[in-house]
Amino acid sequence: MVGVTDLMKQQLITALFTLGLVIWTGAAQAVDCAAVRERFQCDASTKYPLHLSFDDGPAQQTTDVLKVLKKEKIPATFFAIARKVDCPEIAKRCQAEQHDSNVCIQRMTECKQRRKILRQIKQAGHMIGSHSYAHLHYSQVDAAARRADFKRSRQVLSPYFTTKIPLFRLPYGDGWFNRAERPEILKDLQALGFRHIAWAFSAFDWNKDNQRGDKILANVLSEVCKRKQGGIVLFHDGVEEQLHEGRLFTTTHLQDWVPSMRCVVDFKPLSFFEH
Ligand SMILES: [Zn+2]
Repeated sequence: MVGVTDLMKQQLITALFTLGLVIWTGAAQAVDCAAVRERFQCDASTKYPLHLSFDDGPAQQTTDVLKVLKKEKIPATFFAIARKVDCPEIAKRCQAEQHDSNVCIQRMTECKQRRKILRQIKQAGHMIGSHSYAHLHYSQVDAAARRADFKRSRQVLSPYFTTKIPLFRLPYGDGWFNRAERPEILKDLQALGFRHIAWAFSAFDWNKDNQRGDKILANVLSEVCKRKQGGIVLFHDGVEEQLHEGRLFTTTHLQDWVPSMRCVVDFKPLSFFEH
């Protein structure tokens, strides 16, 4: 009996220690929201609705983003570059370029991983849209090639779309910000059955100058508080010219930014902004 009591005592001490550690860790991670609001000159009582969107993926590090979104229960939208998950085309090109067979096997393995990541995004309940096939400046591409690219992205990404009318985001916003001068680009998208989703403002996470400290967080919060308005914010989980590598500063730091963001914003699904 004595042995059992000792064991119970030991278990109790361990449990108390663990509890203390959890409380201490939680306190250490707590954010001073008053300081955050003051820093970005935000209204004290307002929480602005915000939707996170991620362009240029999928990449292997998109899974890091998914973990954060799951843990924090944040809904998001991912605009995928179709050529990154066009595995038959990647295989064909690899053979045409006469690479070593191991190189081509590796490229196929990575392509299948990226397809799996798109499935994971969908299963997690996030939105997926097209970010074109080849990520070009479409105002500089002739009409036939432009339409072919949009159509091809639709074919490749169709298993992954999350809405009946598939979503689309133009690379560089080219065709959207200049829609008055170049209305035919949005018209092409509409004719092919896409719905374009723009962004209210950018986190500018693609810019190397911002990839240090919490500059990206500051970009988002100062924009929200200055405009006194939330909206769809543009982040990147991938790098447009790289097939498999993610936008590492964003994918590794997103978790650090969320608590401060919560002081000022309420994370909302895309449907909050786009009906
Ligand atoms: Zn892009």
